[in-house]
Order: sequence, then structure tokens, then C-alpha cells
Amino acid sequence: MMQKMKSSFLKNCRLTTLFFLSPPLYATTELNIYCTLQNDACEEVAQRFSQQYSIDAKFVRASTGVTLGKLKAEKNNPQADIWYGGTLEPHLQARDLGLLEKYRSPKQAEVLVQFKDLVHKYGDYTSFGYMLVLGLGVNTTKLKELGLEAPKCWHDLLDPRLKGEIQVPDPQSSGTGYAFIATLIQLWGEDKAFDFLKKLNNNISHYVKSGLVTSNLARGDSSVSIGFLHTFEVEKAKGAPLQSIPVCDGDSYTLGGISIIKGARNLDNAKLFMDWALSKEGQELNWIRRAPYQIPTNKYATVHHGAVSPEQLNLIKFDFEKFGSSKQAKLILSRWLEEVKLSK
Ligand code: PLP
Repeated sequence: MMQKMKSSFLKNCRLTTLFFLSPPLYATTELNIYCTLQNDACEEVAQRFSQQYSIDAKFVRASTGVTLGKLKAEKNNPQADIWYGGTLEPHLQARDLGLLEKYRSPKQAEVLVQFKDLVHKYGDYTSFGYMLVLGLGVNTTKLKELGLEAPKCWHDLLDPRLKGEIQVPDPQSSGTGYAFIATLIQLWGEDKAFDFLKKLNNNISHYVKSGLVTSNLARGDSSVSIGFLHTFEVEKAKGAPLQSIPVCDGDSYTLGGISIIKGARNLDNAKLFMDWALSKEGQELNWIRRAPYQIPTNKYATVHHGAVSPEQLNLIKFDFEKFGSSKQAKLILSRWLEEVKLSK
């Protein structure tokens, strides 16, 4: 009798364990998104996707570096299904750390020809939702008051008359900040890039948390900001006296990553979302209707008249392999912290 009870108890335990460890067999109706776009763009995307597919999509917005930090901290208990947006390199670092789920979207077939090789290389884990071009934003009223011409090249930022006038996103929290350092290393090598960053430190007004903090510049608290060009165009369209400037050293760029998080509880919905975000419709909804001017990566999607057209760009060679390595990122960020930020 006792033996029988024991065996049925063990059987129940096994079944219960199996139930909790297996992925759900039923279709879920939820999707949790970590979103690294403009807040209103995240809102629009979640709403439209929810309506179209009868899925309850929720989002939490944070900068690229902050989101990567969340993925690391939640490795054993993921709190979101998909990471939408943010610069590509930290997505690649997440892959490197085993934090992503493998999924190659069929919609990758519609990517612009310039990015086909990158999609081939990284597309098992990360797809590209949009393109971002790095450069400068200036407040023209503020520069006029200072009697200065707008900077055109990275080295113009070292002008001592710009002391306390330049805003840079902090590379620890911001993908924009990391892309900026990576760009300088790519152009000049690491030691020269750090030499420049140390000198630039004298002219810094703020290290801001995100590349999307453009209100300081719009208000004139800083005269110059480093960031992705479209962010300055958005402020300009709202009436701020801003100008976006592609730098003379060549156009550096990155891509907006989309990756499914390892252990996603709503895996099928995450795949559906990725396919949708890569489609002409998904990209036009966001980049055209909301007009944040990101450059679409789907070859059939229309480019907003306010956005830079990819054909006009003089792109520098960018080593995504190197800057997408988590070991490299750790070295670069700790060097920056020690030699640049903490030396201020
Ligand atoms: N995605 C978009 C569309 C952006 O405009 C930006 C920054 O401007 C980023 C991602 C990167 O944001 P962050 O610097 O906060 O990581």
C-alpha cells in the first residue's frame, strides 16, 4: 500500500516538474518588449502590433546599455521576450554572452542590399530594424551668441572656445556613446582615440544617459551634441534652432537590432513581432507615420523625406565583430571610465 502511494506521489512530482519546465504548449496572448526607441515610437509599435494580432504587447523603454544590463541580470529568469531597437553592437554582445534565442526571420530576405552580408553573418540571432547615422547636432542660436562656426569634423570639437559646451552620451548606458568611441577607434586606432577623448573631456558639459536626450541641446544648455542625426532633425521639426551635421571624417553608422531573448515565455509571439517589425508595413508605420526619421532597412519601405537616404552616405568601414565582442566592450568601457570620465 505504502509502496503504491510512494510511486503515485513520485509520478505526480514528475508530472508537475515537467509541467513547469516545459515551454507552454498553448498559444499565449502576451508579448513583453524591451524597447530602445523613442518612447512614443515604442508606444505606437506596441499598440499597433497588439491591435493587428490580438496580442497584449507591453513594453519597457530603456537605453541600449541599460537593457543589456537587464538581460545579463535576468539571465536565469528573463522578464521580456524580445529586445526591439538599440544599437547593434550591444545586441551582438548579448549573443556573445548566450543571452539570445536563435531565430532567423524570413523577412530578412527583404533587407537592403548594403546590409545583406551583415544579415548573413549575424541574422541567426539579431535582425536589423533600421539604420542610424552618427554625427553632430548644434544649437545655431547658441553658437551665434558664442561667435563660433559650427564644427564640421571630430577634431573641431577640441576648440577651447567650446569649453563646457559639448554633450556626449555616456557609453556605459548609451549605445550612442559606445558607437561614438567605437567610431573613433575605428578611424584612428585605440590610443589616438583615447587621447582625443581625454582632450574632449575638457569641453564636456554633460555625459547624458541616452543618445535620445536632445532637450538640453534644444534649450541651449549645450551648443553641440554627439548623436544620431535623425534625433536632431526631430527637435528641429518641433521648432528648436538645431542643425544636424554629418562629420567630414566619414559617416559612421550602426543598425537598430531586434533580438529574441533566451528563454522567452512568448516565443511564437516574439517571432511574429520580429517578422512584423522587419516588414515594409512595420517599418513604414513607425518611421513614416511617427516621423522619427530612422532609415528603414526593408528595401520596399519608403524613406521619410526628413531622413537621410542611404545612397547619399559615405559610410566608413565598421568592424561589428570587434565592437560586438563583450570582452572588447568591457575593455573599452573600463578604459573610458578610468582614463576619461573619472579623470574629470
Ligand atoms: N534607437 C534609436 C532609434 C535612437 O534614436 C537611438 C539614439 O538616438 C538609439 C536607438 C540608441 O539609444 P541609446 O543611446 O539610449 O542607447
